[in-house]
Amino acid sequence: MKIGAALEFNLIDYPGKIAAVAFTPGCNYLCPHCHAAPLLANAKDIGTDGFFNYLDTVKDWVNGVVICGGEPTLQPNLVPFILKLRARGLAVKLDTNGSNPAVLARLLADKLVDYVAMDVKGPRFLWPASAGVEGHEAAMAESIKLVAGFPDYEFRTTIAPVVRGDGEIAFFTVQEMIAAAKFIAGAAGGDAHKYYVQKFVPRKNGLVDKRLEAFPETPPRLLEDIHKEVSKYLPNSQIRG
Ligand code: SF4
Repeated sequence: MKIGAALEFNLIDYPGKIAAVAFTPGCNYLCPHCHAAPLLANAKDIGTDGFFNYLDTVKDWVNGVVICGGEPTLQPNLVPFILKLRARGLAVKLDTNGSNPAVLARLLADKLVDYVAMDVKGPRFLWPASAGVEGHEAAMAESIKLVAGFPDYEFRTTIAPVVRGDGEIAFFTVQEMIAAAKFIAGAAGGDAHKYYVQKFVPRKNGLVDKRLEAFPETPPRLLEDIHKEVSKYLPNSQIRG
């Protein structure tokens, strides 16, 4: 299990928990808006021993662990790592891009994860553009169904600029995000799914596609308009700024 860093524990990354963060390097997507690319490129491997050494120093405060990345389900020893966390009585949250439903199915069947946060890369017809890779559409759709079976979960979409087929780059539109919300409701069944529309934050020399660095943060008005419309299909939607 490669762990690039033990990020500072906090109250933000895992709702309701004080959580340490295990950052796993490596991702099978190339989202143009990805912030993690520099971290992924420069991360050293502290390994599970390094992470548990860190946990020892914060064990009096921490009651959960977030496993993020990158894409944690690519890690071959993810399950033994989670079992070790479980043995310490820690709650586990997994952040995933949904590309690996086989691993999600195992985690769900064995009740290994308490909370899953899955990125939904906008409307299905834009997934290849917003994920920066093709061929994961069926897996992502299957993962949406699986994630809705975890004890606690959220779906989330960063309202980022997307490189369209004609080369135009523009933020997700309200209509596109209505399509995304309808798809989640249809694939996951029902409408009671927690869904966050998140602000895109540009970072100089820090995004996979440098062209996106010229864009501003997602305009608040666009976020509000998207939230208002997607709430008609997923009433448990919120803006995450
Ligand atoms: S934003 Fe995209 S490329 Fe970056 S870690 Fe997440 S899934 Fe991978």
